[in-house]
Amino acid sequence: MGKKIRLSDTPTFDLIVNVLSNYQCPVDCPSLCCKIQNIDFDGKDLKILRKASKTKTEKAERVRYKGSLYYSIEPPCPFLGDTGKCTSYDRRPTVCRIYPFNCDSDNLSVKIYPCDLGIKILSDFLKFRNEKLKLDIPQKLIDDLKASNEIFNTSEDNSDVLLVGITLNNLELFGEYLDSEQNWRNPTHTLLF
Ligand code: SF4
Ligand code: SF4
Repeated sequence: MGKKIRLSDTPTFDLIVNVLSNYQCPVDCPSLCCKIQNIDFDGKDLKILRKASKTKTEKAERVRYKGSLYYSIEPPCPFLGDTGKCTSYDRRPTVCRIYPFNCDSDNLSVKIYPCDLGIKILSDFLKFRNEKLKLDIPQKLIDDLKASNEIFNTSEDNSDVLLVGITLNNLELFGEYLDSEQNWRNPTHTLLF
């Protein structure tokens, strides 16, 4: 069997990181992503995380799924500091580096969690689709995303939230759009949500 390719070694990871480089998390988000979901990672991430704290890494459980071995830490993440900041930021796992994006195992598309940052990115993505690809923004989608953002921010169980998928091709075009539109996020830019 061939060696499993890690997400961080794929062009998908680069596309996501490029999009994220245009954004910052809202200061008032209480780091929900570190508090409400299991943090899953592979052996290489575990090795790196161990350098931040061996004791805290011991909370990771070994999980075998469909023949693959990975590690999982139950929330809240032990690396989350009292000030709400990650205490292992430079050594955080791949899944943390791409949040609020989430990758399908087929690596052909990505999904976005509807946290406050995810909603901001989706708002811009839908505007990009509308402006550049001439695709409508369905009101129902906006309403569903607003509702999902509310659930994400207030519920301890976010298994029902709507995850919007983006093809890799559109993600690449969106990244180029963000890079090229110098003034696209000026003070008069209105968010859909
Ligand atoms: S990625 Fe989302 S949930 Fe996590 S800190 Fe940023 S806004 Fe909050
Ligand atoms: S490692 Fe850091 S970024 Fe990742 S879940 Fe834990 S506290 Fe959050």
